[in-house]
Amino acid sequence: MDQLTVLDLVDDDDGDVPVITQTKSKKKGKKTAQRGKGKQREDPVTPSASNSEKVAESIILDDDGDVTLIVGNLSTKIRVSSQVLRLASPVWKAMFSDRFAESQASEVEFPDDDEEALLVVLRVAHLHFLQLPPATPMPFHRLLDLAVICDKYDTVKIVRPFITAWSQNLEELSLQNGYEESLFIAWTFGYHSIYKSLASRLVLSAIIGPDGECLNSGGDFLGPTMPLNSIETILKVREDTISTLLNTCYKKFDATLATPHVCTVNQKHVEACHASIVGSLVRGFHQLGLFPDRPAASEISLNISELSASLINLPIYSCKTNTGSSYNYDYNTIRDHTACTKAAQLSDPIQDILKNIPSAALDSHKTHMDEQAKK
Ligand SMILES: [Zn+2]
Repeated sequence: MDQLTVLDLVDDDDGDVPVITQTKSKKKGKKTAQRGKGKQREDPVTPSASNSEKVAESIILDDDGDVTLIVGNLSTKIRVSSQVLRLASPVWKAMFSDRFAESQASEVEFPDDDEEALLVVLRVAHLHFLQLPPATPMPFHRLLDLAVICDKYDTVKIVRPFITAWSQNLEELSLQNGYEESLFIAWTFGYHSIYKSLASRLVLSAIIGPDGECLNSGGDFLGPTMPLNSIETILKVREDTISTLLNTCYKKFDATLATPHVCTVNQKHVEACHASIVGSLVRGFHQLGLFPDRPAASEISLNISELSASLINLPIYSCKTNTGSSYNYDYNTIRDHTACTKAAQLSDPIQDILKNIPSAALDSHKTHMDEQAKK
């Protein structure tokens, strides 16, 4: 009996349907050892034993199946029908083509795939609905594993009737730190609004680690499973927005410093009035690391939410002058210069910038999700 190993999974020219390249792998000794220790059972039992216990478990999804998949850490064997696989997935259709039939192989290794996620897809394909997970939110890591399988083998369409129930808390989870890989799940199953919201949240909340890596607001890595170009796009929008924020602040500062100041209380106090405003900006920028050197946006590790809140709330102090006798401390003659600070306030322009941050979902992401949503 021949055995095949999936060696390569490469995109075809249009990048749409991956093509499986297979070569024969003669591993008779290993296979015999696995089979010798194996126990065979009918589905419905989901493999749940620890790795040390997982010795060649066999699951039969089709009594008349013509192929056995050797999955994950190569300890689970799943008997399936190659015809069902061809119907379920264009990738498997290519993989189990006529060339496969001619090879007369009956075992194929899937060493890189998560066993449970693959089994969910295979059970749907073989109509074993009673053995599927319940119609309740799936644990996040299971949903992510399922998304990886559905992306890799293009099997979103066959889990579509179930995925709404399994992913019903995804939107809620995607708002929390630690669930950033919701991006990949949303990208795979075509949940454009979840993708867009999460990408926007990450633009505002992402911080840059010491080695330039993208971290969530808690300082944790976002996870390895992300859609192509998603994090790069988020970081680009983040940096562009910070650049706009900094430019706006420095323009405001330069204008405040260089433009002749107008004191709305009494022009004879213009020097003190101007100095208190310029001094407030210098002090506030210095505390944020924005003065005296003017850092580039790429050097800012703070997230946009913190940076913009600090700038919006940057206190601009105004002087108080006494219009009466210098010996007269009558409150009626003390004048407050708060109104003179108006032109230097940063709040309005920064809020305008925050309202106009571009989307971190590329057109190519949206196109992909629209296509996935139709499956
Ligand atoms: Zn004034």
